[in-house]
Amino acid sequence: MFSTLPTDYHEFIHWAWPQFEPYYKNLIDRTLFADNVAAWLADWSHIAKLVQETYARLHLATTLDTADTEAEKRYHTFSGEVYPQIEAAEQQLKQNLLDSGLEPAGFEIPLRNLRAEAALFREANLPLLVENRKLGSEYNKIVGAQTVPWEGQELTLQQIRPIAQHPDRVVRERAWRLASDRWLADRAALNELWTKTVPLRKQIALNAGCADYRAYRWRELLRFDYTPADCETFQAAIEEVAVPAARRIYARAQQRLGVESVRPWDCDQDRDPLNYPTLQPFQDVTDLIEKSEKIFQHVDPQLGEYYTIMRREQLLDLDNRKGKAPGGFCTEFPVTQRPFIFMNSVGVRGDVRTMLHESGHAFHVFETNHLPYIHQLQITMEFAEVASMSMELLAAPYLSRKFGGFYTAQEAARDRVEHLERIILFWPYMAVVDAFQQWAHTHLEGVDPMACDAKWMELQQRFMPGIDWSGLDAELMTGWHRKQHIHRSPFYYVEYGLAQLGAVQVWRNALKDQAASLAHYRQALALGGTKSLPELYQAAGAKFAFDARTLKEAVELVETTIEQLTA
Ligand SMILES: [Zn+2]
Repeated sequence: MFSTLPTDYHEFIHWAWPQFEPYYKNLIDRTLFADNVAAWLADWSHIAKLVQETYARLHLATTLDTADTEAEKRYHTFSGEVYPQIEAAEQQLKQNLLDSGLEPAGFEIPLRNLRAEAALFREANLPLLVENRKLGSEYNKIVGAQTVPWEGQELTLQQIRPIAQHPDRVVRERAWRLASDRWLADRAALNELWTKTVPLRKQIALNAGCADYRAYRWRELLRFDYTPADCETFQAAIEEVAVPAARRIYARAQQRLGVESVRPWDCDQDRDPLNYPTLQPFQDVTDLIEKSEKIFQHVDPQLGEYYTIMRREQLLDLDNRKGKAPGGFCTEFPVTQRPFIFMNSVGVRGDVRTMLHESGHAFHVFETNHLPYIHQLQITMEFAEVASMSMELLAAPYLSRKFGGFYTAQEAARDRVEHLERIILFWPYMAVVDAFQQWAHTHLEGVDPMACDAKWMELQQRFMPGIDWSGLDAELMTGWHRKQHIHRSPFYYVEYGLAQLGAVQVWRNALKDQAASLAHYRQALALGGTKSLPELYQAAGAKFAFDARTLKEAVELVETTIEQLTA
């Protein structure tokens, strides 16, 4: 029926609601039966993919050139005027499918998600959710206005970050203290915001029939395959296995830096010990692309081919230039069936890591192109990040020039050591963030900033004892202010720790048999969002795990590899 829909994005990129409407109306009006539901889902997917690609392309245009006012206007018109009508129509279609009672093949997981969304929906929560978003923007406003004076200039906290990594310890301590003092100047404002946020979240949960906000978010984040208790098991495993390993890393950093103890200003983001000197992995964007392509060809011929397609079709915009939005990400064009990678590379090693990571997401897009329904492409972070984090590890053996990569053998080894150290150091920090959020939203005192300060301090001492915060109590206990996830995307963080554990297992398999491991990896990616997390992990050759034994095996592999690379 929807054969009239265009397949070239030039034809639909400027569509407004009148163009979309007849298709949605047609879908809404159809009566669903067992024998027409597959065709109906295919048509729905077709129009929804068109919407998604339009959205992605209009948004991308605003990030590629932030000064392009036309692009800005087109994006705002679409998101503000067209999209709300589409959303209402999409909601109606979801309801129609649920009301039909039909359970189409290959749709078990998407249906599970739709049912959960519908069960959580309450009319009474609509204004509260708007208010919740406002408080999130309020947080952004406070943080976005933070600047510090540095040598006659007014720098944002983003801008002072490179200075806080300065090789001269005196300089970086000064920069670190300036940034910390600036955060502390907002302490009262952030505390006040928190005392409004917590009760509001609780009310949203109660309205939806949930005992607390944790239970609400669990369902909203579609966490069907694990419980808060599993996360506590994971925290305990991290304490037992990753915390001692992290202490060993801080002890080595202390020697390397020649300091009496590792202080927060000896670490990036209060966590990763600094490593000197810096490397220069590539000259320009062409160089970055050519070297990456060679690396992926070594990892897997098919993945190498995907990368070549991206290169040929100009689906990579990697250089940092004036007027480009910050950050790096991979977006997706579901009608064209292509990913697009956006980056701001300046020639540092972090750019290489971002390239590898985002390419993992891009390969996920290629591998899921065969799935007929857009709803099967909804992949939660617990597995989406396995695709990307695995790629960082799978590509690591080919980073040196011997394989067409970026570094001398010695530089490659050093880069890998730092990467592996960061993997271990992330787990304890993740545990702090996760334990804090779980506590804050299930205890009455969670609304009290002073109780939060005490809790954060306790957790930091439990999970991250390797960093010396003496004399810095106020800075230490307000660490929860500085973690934006807590304020803007609550409970969202453990995903990274779980995915990292999955990625290390994929890499472990590749060390034994690379071709077989890559075949599993690709098969798992190709499942998209049609299976549960344990099934997706299993397909990738890994265990979706929280236990100390699995984590211990991973940590030991990482530590042994670090030893080999430093020898
Ligand atoms: Zn990612």
